[in-house]
Amino acid sequence: MRRLGIAVPLALLTTVLVAAPGHAAPAAEPDKRPTARGFGGAVTSVDPYATRVGLRVLRAGGNATDAAVATAAALGVTEPFSAGIGGGGYFVHYSARTGKVQTIDGRETAPASMPHDAFIDPKTAEPYNFSPELVTSGVSVGVPGTLATWQRALDRWGTRSLAESLRPAADLADRGFTVDQTFRGQVLQNKQRFNAFVPTKKLYWKGGHAPRVGSTFRNRDLAATYRLLARKGPDAFYRGVLSGEIVRAVRKPPTTKSTTLPVPKGFMVKRDLQRYRALDRKPTRVGYRGLGVYGMGGSSSGGSTVGEALNILERSDLASMPRAQALHRYLEASALAFADRGKYVGDPAQVKVPLRRLLSDKYAAERACEISPATTLAKPVAAGDVTSYDGKCSTTRTSATRTNDTENTQTTNLTVTDRWGNVVEYTLTIEQTGGSGIVVPGRGFLLNNELTDFTAAYDPADPNRIEPLKRPRSSMSPTIVLKKGKPFLAVGSPGGSTIITTVLQVLLNRLDLGMSLPHAIAAPRATQRNTGTDQAEPAFVKRYGAALRALGHDVATYEDMFTGTHEIGAATGIEFGPHGRLTVAAEPARRGGGSAAVVSPKRR
Ligand code: GLU
Repeated sequence: MRRLGIAVPLALLTTVLVAAPGHAAPAAEPDKRPTARGFGGAVTSVDPYATRVGLRVLRAGGNATDAAVATAAALGVTEPFSAGIGGGGYFVHYSARTGKVQTIDGRETAPASMPHDAFIDPKTAEPYNFSPELVTSGVSVGVPGTLATWQRALDRWGTRSLAESLRPAADLADRGFTVDQTFRGQVLQNKQRFNAFVPTKKLYWKGGHAPRVGSTFRNRDLAATYRLLARKGPDAFYRGVLSGEIVRAVRKPPTTKSTTLPVPKGFMVKRDLQRYRALDRKPTRVGYRGLGVYGMGGSSSGGSTVGEALNILERSDLASMPRAQALHRYLEASALAFADRGKYVGDPAQVKVPLRRLLSDKYAAERACEISPATTLAKPVAAGDVTSYDGKCSTTRTSATRTNDTENTQTTNLTVTDRWGNVVEYTLTIEQTGGSGIVVPGRGFLLNNELTDFTAAYDPADPNRIEPLKRPRSSMSPTIVLKKGKPFLAVGSPGGSTIITTVLQVLLNRLDLGMSLPHAIAAPRATQRNTGTDQAEPAFVKRYGAALRALGHDVATYEDMFTGTHEIGAATGIEFGPHGRLTVAAEPARRGGGSAAVVSPKRR
């Protein structure tokens, strides 16, 4: 330094250098804890960088919505294979001022010219193979809703601008973060798909390999995209320069020469993006043992299916039953509710969903009659008749024909509360891990493949059939539970259709089976989605398999069809105790463990 004739302390010079654009040092790795207890606000997500971003917003005086949007934007950087501005989701908000739970439906939407046979291969007249062909396509990309959701949430409940909310995530994308095994594993899983597109290969398969664990991953294109959106607002995405680029990527996917995947082209045009709206929706509500359980209504089936199952289960005193009997009823109630979901639930803008009937206690009483304490229903069970019920038991046992469940099991979830007592429960996704596999060239984000959530083959009687401008049925189940009108619990999870059972199981664990929230989340899971077998994590099979088999259950170990893992879900949640005490929980192990944090460990 002396050589320059100026005594500049080395540390200072380093700071100056790293602050210069393009030379920023990687963001320091945050602490990661699955459980936190404290006061004054909290954030929990699957990722420690994202949780830290949200926590900083809270500490700087932002509210729950401000922090949720900033956290979600950061997840777009560190969890890009599960969520981002190329996808959609559902935002559930409790306002401490009004005492109301309100929701935003930011689901992806089918283009106006999407034909009924969009998923049929014209060459064979048969449906495309689901994976990796259909999922890796332009035709499965829905008009993204995430950015519109963030703007709508900030307009309704936030105190900060979208620009401010995007800044920390843009910085994180620029500075980079440390790659962990989960991130690397997700890239490896997608080797074939990511190598099918020029921009995706460039971003995630640079130098012919997946990012190494411990290396720093930067996404400067995404940082620049966030900054562009900060300057120009969502219009840049839905009307401006990005809309043209998205449409091009969907209609003419930027495939590599070497790929052997067929990559069907999509139908999206700029007008589809222009007409996109994130929609204010009424939440679903059911009463459960004196609590009010609020969930996401259509276009998600989360609120109605969790709600119906709770109504069925409320007829049994689960808390006083042997554990296997309580779990038996949980599995049976899930199957019954899933049967009704399949028959009745689709996008309410295009399908008449009999929501009031599905969530009626009388209807649940009749559905509950189907459950026997000593035997197991033959699956799949048939849907009930919502047009005629009187709450009494009939003797007919029903069964139905099998259907395929191709929903994927990724996505991400976050839970936030602030010092004023507002709460956000937000699940967002790009559908399967890596979405469509298509990174918008030069923009650093992946497009979703959410339209694969439609039923592939067209059936006019199916509420989830493909229709133009329709939102595919989701399972996302962000849930807020109120006790005497005040927040008691907020919980949500990723996991495709297992989201519903994960949220339900966490609620039962906490509300009926005497577990704390962290235990309720950590406990081994099983999922029954009206299929022949109950699919369960290995620890669940070990602990309860024999007792459930004795009741007639066919219990099998769950295996994710894409990742091959045996984990179900990756939940986050917050419990609101007396005197402002918060219990904040993420996964201790699933998906590599999540990150829960509080504004202050002590009451101020
Ligand atoms: N597409 C799923 C849904 O909307 C979410 C994707 C997932 O969790 O993998 O329910």
